[in-house]
Amino acid sequence: MDYSSIKGIEALGDLKGKRVFVRADFNVPLEGTRITSDARITAALPTIKLLLGKGARVILASHLGRPEGKGFEAEYSLAPVAKRLSELLGFEVTLQPDCVGENVRKGALAVTDGHATLLENVRFHKAENKGAEAFGRELASLAEFYVNDAFGTCHRADASMTWPAKLLPSAAGLLVKAEVDALATVLTNPNRPCLAVLGGAKVSDKIPLVNNLLSRVNEICVGGGMAYTFLKAQGHKIGKSLCDDSKLDDCKKMLLRARENNVAIHLPKDHVIAHGMDDETAHIDRGDIPDDFAAFDIGGNTARAFANVIARAKTILFNGPMGVFEKERFSNGTQIVVNAIAEATRNGAFSVVGGGDSAAAAEHFHADKHMSHVSTGGGASLTLLQGEPMPALEALIRS
Ligand code: AMP
Repeated sequence: MDYSSIKGIEALGDLKGKRVFVRADFNVPLEGTRITSDARITAALPTIKLLLGKGARVILASHLGRPEGKGFEAEYSLAPVAKRLSELLGFEVTLQPDCVGENVRKGALAVTDGHATLLENVRFHKAENKGAEAFGRELASLAEFYVNDAFGTCHRADASMTWPAKLLPSAAGLLVKAEVDALATVLTNPNRPCLAVLGGAKVSDKIPLVNNLLSRVNEICVGGGMAYTFLKAQGHKIGKSLCDDSKLDDCKKMLLRARENNVAIHLPKDHVIAHGMDDETAHIDRGDIPDDFAAFDIGGNTARAFANVIARAKTILFNGPMGVFEKERFSNGTQIVVNAIAEATRNGAFSVVGGGDSAAAAEHFHADKHMSHVSTGGGASLTLLQGEPMPALEALIRS
């Protein structure tokens, strides 16, 4: 599915005096009632401010954590978010006692032009996760327009993510639009050569991704723990390195398909190895990894070879670190690769960093600011890149 046709807020026309339901992702980390990072709130501010500036009456909704869906639970209340939003917006963002019901309806109707209210956690209702229509209709009935700015949840068919989108004139918020456009650029319309740099621990997590990319990219560099199942599939000895023997056949098939599709797959040739993560390290230049050693990072030669491939790419997707980058002794490969992607971006390439660990790795080496786009949604961006259904985005297209 090509999501690049999803409309932005401008398509909704004049919003002055209109009630706009904004599904945001305010799933912030909390210690008690203290927000330890407000990044998710600040990420939604451009959309909220844009709507307020248009004179809209903004009705905000979000989930927070994983309550059981049995009604209000204080530890999952959005009260700290309402407080922080009030500070950031400079007026009181009222918190409704729930997200549906007569009192909430009155609260939503009381919002004035250019102001906002926040509904209580949508996951206080089981119907949210179930994608229940009646609950979705009740949420939609609070507003005249719908804006989805919760990219991290777009791979779910939750009621607040789908039903209002289908029932009301809808658009993607600035965050969702930026995510969708960046990922669609890689998948459907990349400048070539188009390169994927893939790593991370679990090869099983990445098989659908590699399979989808094999018909789209020109080259793939594979590092990190996932590389060793590929190397074993090629007949190499990999010692105690991470390996998923149940995926050897999949790796063989992918290597074959890559050859058929004319996609170059680059695998590590040298490695940083150790008995265990805290033991002394050694470098293995080529060939097999001894039985009692595991590889925890790609070697310097491999990293530089990957950097050369990166330098000639015009579109780059980075998903997964090249080694155990959290430990300095195994961080060199990821650092070289991340810096090479930043450098290529400065030279005009378009670079996208998948969410989760890849974003953490880019941040760790202070390269995140130099990338064209760093995704905010780990699971959501992976689902989209794998070519799997994104129910919330499909609902926006159907609106
Ligand atoms: P993932 O969530 O699958 O993207 O994996 C990310 C994690 O993979 C990071 O925390 C890394 O420490 C870990 N990792 C990367 N390379 C290796 C490796 N060669 N051996 C063990 N763990 C690795």
